[in-house]
Amino acid sequence: MDLCQEAHARKLESGRAQVLVLYETEPAGLAAAEARLNDVIPVSLCCLTRIGHADLLHALASGFDVIHLQTCPRPSVRQAQDNEVELVRELGGLGRIMLFDRETALERRLAAGILPFPSVAPEILAVGSRRDTARASAAALLPPAIDHIGLPDKAPYGTVSLDESLCNKCSSCVWVCPSDALGLTENGGELSLVESLCSQCGLCITICPQRALHMEAGMDLSASAVLPQLLTRWEGSSRGEPEEAGGLQN
Ligand code: SF4
Ligand code: SF4
Repeated sequence: MDLCQEAHARKLESGRAQVLVLYETEPAGLAAAEARLNDVIPVSLCCLTRIGHADLLHALASGFDVIHLQTCPRPSVRQAQDNEVELVRELGGLGRIMLFDRETALERRLAAGILPFPSVAPEILAVGSRRDTARASAAALLPPAIDHIGLPDKAPYGTVSLDESLCNKCSSCVWVCPSDALGLTENGGELSLVESLCSQCGLCITICPQRALHMEAGMDLSASAVLPQLLTRWEGSSRGEPEEAGGLQN
């Protein structure tokens, strides 16, 4: 947060693009680039996997124009890192987050001239949960005309739809939902969903005795995403089976 505030202020004052370099093992040429280029901010991390898509989106929306992220050397977590970066790209960071490994000549990359993007004061976006920050940051990064974006299947954002002809109103899905995303309307007991709370965990899909529910990954960027809405009718194109857990961080 402090780094974003400083980058945001520096950009407002200088008009120059701000570059963030996140690494576990210091890459060759970084110290020289840092000494020569005022707007390159290196940050050493004890573990690269502690940085998730919400942190990266927030940094891009509120101060930094480009992020260079060192690849995780451990194969067991490399896929998780790739998933996080893919999510950042889908949610407005395309072309602004680059991976590098220990062999990359980073100095030449850092010397490339880039133009600054508009950014939002960090404290405006860092409100509520990390999910809220990711959503607010994506809304700031994506063009204003986009109010919904589809995401890869393992993304922890999305909606749940209902085949009404199968539902017997047993409410099992409501009771099992760990994030209180599913609920019942006061009048009539219809199923409702607060999309911003749904992590696509798949528990409701698993427990439904009628196989009436279906998930679809994506992010609704409109104001209605944070309010209970009647479940949309299943149109037959959504995912019906829960995905394996552990794809992406909330
Ligand atoms: S997928 Fe998980 S979080 Fe989303 S509504 Fe179903 S149980 Fe709740
Ligand atoms: S668990 Fe299935 S059948 Fe029961 S209320 Fe939910 S959608 Fe309907």
